[in-house]
Amino acid sequence: MRVFVMIAMILLTACQAPDEETSRTVEMYNTSGDMIGTAKLTEAEGGVNVKLKLEGLEPGYHGIHVHEYARCDGPDFKTAGNHLNPTGNQHGRMHPEGAHLGDLPNLEADSGGLVDAELMLPEATLLDGKKSLLKGEGTSLVIHEGQDDGISQPGGNSGARIACGLIAEEEQKTSETPTDPTNFNEEQEQ
Ligand SMILES: [Zn+2]
Repeated sequence: MRVFVMIAMILLTACQAPDEETSRTVEMYNTSGDMIGTAKLTEAEGGVNVKLKLEGLEPGYHGIHVHEYARCDGPDFKTAGNHLNPTGNQHGRMHPEGAHLGDLPNLEADSGGLVDAELMLPEATLLDGKKSLLKGEGTSLVIHEGQDDGISQPGGNSGARIACGLIAEEEQKTSETPTDPTNFNEEQEQ
């Protein structure tokens, strides 16, 4: 009986629908691998709201974008790929043929290097679809050293990548031992 309950619990966990979740907390890491804060993404009307609480940044403006792969390999974070751009637009919120889906307004760190900001990512979603931030294996949120000028290709001339965080489904359970249906039936009959 105990085995049956355990299996039932595993099945329940596996069947929870991830697309019913409408928010996701992204942990942001710098090039040294230290966590510098979080970005809370919440499904909102017309897009995704991005609430940032960060520390340890250089004071001033920094470009920030959603990038196309859920890979944050330091120290350069190049594995995150380019800006998320499922519709083939040009980069930049000031570009007439822009913007990338992943283009966010610059964020500003105060004189103490702190960020407490709320940005909006229009048209994006955490639900299913072409403009989903969780499509495939997910995406990533990347902060740049300098300010995004909003128009230069391909990335607004915002310089090196200084922080990265994964926007992905909750980690898949990979350590589950496969259940043998024969054993299961024997346990039930006892
Ligand atoms: Zn862009």
